[in-house]
Amino acid sequence: MQPFDLIILGGGISGLGVAREAARRGKRALLLEAASCCGATSNNTLRIIHGGFRYLQHLDLPRVCKSLLDQAAIVREEPDAVAPLPCVMPLSPRGLKSRIPTSCAALMYGALMRACRSPLPSPAVISAAEAAAQVPLLRGLATHGALRWHDALLLDPARIAGRLRAAACAGPVTILEHTAARAVSRAGELFEVRDARDAVHLGRAVVNTLGPFLGTVELPRGLAGSRPRWCKGINITISRQLDSTFGIGVQGAEGRLLFCVPRGRGTAIGTWYTPIANDGSPLGPDPGEIAALIDAFNAALPGANVRASEVEGVDLGVLPMLADSPGGPRLVANEEIHVAGGYVEVLSTKYTTFRTQARRVLRAI
Ligand SMILES: Cc1cc2nc3c(=O)[nH]c(=O)nc-3n(C[C@H](O)[C@H](O)[C@H](O)COP(=O)(O)OP(=O)(O)OC[C@H]3O[C@@H](n4cnc5c(N)ncnc54)[C@H](O)[C@@H]3O)c2cc1C
Repeated sequence: MQPFDLIILGGGISGLGVAREAARRGKRALLLEAASCCGATSNNTLRIIHGGFRYLQHLDLPRVCKSLLDQAAIVREEPDAVAPLPCVMPLSPRGLKSRIPTSCAALMYGALMRACRSPLPSPAVISAAEAAAQVPLLRGLATHGALRWHDALLLDPARIAGRLRAAACAGPVTILEHTAARAVSRAGELFEVRDARDAVHLGRAVVNTLGPFLGTVELPRGLAGSRPRWCKGINITISRQLDSTFGIGVQGAEGRLLFCVPRGRGTAIGTWYTPIANDGSPLGPDPGEIAALIDAFNAALPGANVRASEVEGVDLGVLPMLADSPGGPRLVANEEIHVAGGYVEVLSTKYTTFRTQARRVLRAI
């Protein structure tokens, strides 16, 4: 049996991104997906393709540029699946999110956007009156003005997944859906991956993109990377359009940042995080969490007045969080790539960066 150059575990956006990059480089690859590609967390995002404005608060310029480059590439390559999304966020009276620091950050971000050839308009700080005129829900709320910037909105996640898949399979990549990986072991210089049907696949390298399911596959000792605290993330969709154009960001209690974005004729609102047990037990939407998300959102944006009876759907996924974060769950800051010999683990925190992530993985093996 001829070994594959690499075997990819998981067909979310991370796994499919690696599969396409492998095909571009002429690598023979096998991707094993337990269910359907991009059917889990990668289908259930809030669908914002971030440019990374928020990373400026930590002056993490490389991360801002990486996000901007990835965002620009997705906007250019997927014009029918992604649309520019104007966003607004009320400013605070003092601190990092007040007028002067935010204006400086907007100038710096605009310059980085130009350097990264972003096709989106530059951000600006707007007055309370402009904010209220453009987004009526902010009337009386953005009394210190607002930041207006552009991200992009994923209109059709299935289309992007389908394109990545087609590009991978046009090269020497085989994708097996409904085929879970069970165990990885060493076989001399090679790796053996056993699947749920007990078939054994040989590869020179293994790329594990299973995210929260990383721990469900047996691994040889010493290969596994860090294990974060996994959190359930939920977004709700409601039948009413809160604003037909703008994504609105508001600061909830305990510093949680909540967003609402247009979703068809309704609105998606999120994201609410709850720590979960890492024991593989099935996840479901919990009415208490949905109520907590609605309460926090209404408190932060009272004009929205969202009612539980308007909830049409709940999108659910899992995200890596810092294990001990004071003041509640906080997202792992950067995606991680852990490399041990020919074994690579990918811990993704954002949909947007799957392209850079895939290139880093291919360079690592
Ligand atoms: C509620 C929520 C909202 C979000 N919103 C945004 C957003 O607006 N913008 C943004 O950029 N990011 C967002 N994210 C983050 C983003 O969704 C994730 O970072 C990204 O989708 C993770 O992709 P992945 O491929 O690493 O993982 P996943 O999409 O979870 O893929 C893992 C895959 O592995 C498969 N699998 C499991 N076990 C096995 C096995 N044994 N063998 C083979 N396959 C297996 C699963 O079926 C799944 O398809 C959000 C996340 C959540 C939870």
